Amino acid sequence: MRSGDAPRPTARRVFVLARGGEPLMPCHPARARELLERGRAVVARQAPFTIRLKHRTRADSTVDGVQLRLDPGSRATGIAITDERQQVGPTGRTHLARRGLITIELRHRGRQIHIGMMRRAGYRRRRRSANLRYRAPRHDNRRRPNGWLAPSQRHRVDSTTSLISRLCRYAPVVAIHVEHAAFDTAAVTGGIPPGGPRSPGATCAGFEIREFLLAAWEKSCAYCGAEGVPLNIEHVRPRSGGGSDRLSNLVLACVTCNQAKGTSSIEEFLADRPARLERVIAQLRRPLHDMATMNSTRLTLVKALGTIGVPVHTWSSGRTHWNRRLMGLPKSHTLDALATGVIDHERGDTLVRVPTQVLTGDLVAAEVPRGRWAGRWVGRIAVRSNGQHRITTLTCRFDVSHRNLRLLQRADGYAYEITPEIQLSGQRGAAYSGSTLKGGDPGNV
Ligand SMILES: [Zn+2]
Repeated sequence: MRSGDAPRPTARRVFVLARGGEPLMPCHPARARELLERGRAVVARQAPFTIRLKHRTRADSTVDGVQLRLDPGSRATGIAITDERQQVGPTGRTHLARRGLITIELRHRGRQIHIGMMRRAGYRRRRRSANLRYRAPRHDNRRRPNGWLAPSQRHRVDSTTSLISRLCRYAPVVAIHVEHAAFDTAAVTGGIPPGGPRSPGATCAGFEIREFLLAAWEKSCAYCGAEGVPLNIEHVRPRSGGGSDRLSNLVLACVTCNQAKGTSSIEEFLADRPARLERVIAQLRRPLHDMATMNSTRLTLVKALGTIGVPVHTWSSGRTHWNRRLMGLPKSHTLDALATGVIDHERGDTLVRVPTQVLTGDLVAAEVPRGRWAGRWVGRIAVRSNGQHRITTLTCRFDVSHRNLRLLQRADGYAYEITPEIQLSGQRGAAYSGSTLKGGDPGNV
């Protein structure tokens, strides 16, 4: 298989443990089914699906090891487990073939946490002033410790690290590769160089700004939210109208929005979408603050991953984009994770397999067979001593008797759901039916 060919979709692999519980190489689900049917293995976990062999020990098995690849994002983190094999190409040269075994998208709850904390602050503020004598606020004399992260950020680091350390128990992980882009805040305060980041006079600052804008706007259009389309750097206040090149005047916009906006002001352009207008303005007001937060969260994550005991390698997001583009993969958190790290395209290294299903997790699942709220509900559960537990789903919240609840898997802080991988572009036709793919990644910014 040559570099540039589309990777083949493949079934998501199953984690395999040896008799003693040590991780072995993940296997094909058909193989797992066979082992289970013959009684040579038992189910160790439902999600992520893991089997334990009854007789085979780790010493009996060949374990080549797998790599764990991560694309940390603010809304979701893509995780991919891959193995790499030396292959001899048609020309007789050896190259590395990377195979995607299992992909996971971890969805973060930063926003819900932020809302919860604001609500709590409101209660406390009321309590302080409502029916008590006046006491001066005490927070002025408290300092935040070094390395403090806001709870919504801290949660990203903690939930990611905890999931990764678990995956290291289910699979023989020999290396962790993280996409780690730190922004040089000092370099970008001057704005983009004249002529744009791709001009001959482009400096490192231009690339930092491009990377920052991609991260800040989550690789989507600031005006319509389109993803996976070419994005341009857009001056909110046009340069012809005296707008500056500073970050507080720059957003990413798709070609359609860029042209539609023309020289009109952002207030005019988004007049019929007040919520979007508010969000864009709020984001523009705090670009450097965001950049600093992203830096500290990523640094903390890399440090935390270092404590797991597996070597951690960090890679720039530019390299991931480059890899993903050469392999013709669309944008998703998990595909980004698969493309993280070194792929020597010159040598013919390539990604040969992509799992067709993604395991995602955020909510705890429960089943309610009877009652006013009859049906299947998926949500978080708050356990109460009277046996009427409160379930919170995406749309509603109600109490259910413990008798109507069925435990799917004992709570491990995550809930699991399987979704299909974003459709791949395809030289290989039918298997992909890749009609939803739009023009590649935002690489032309
Ligand atoms: Zn747009």
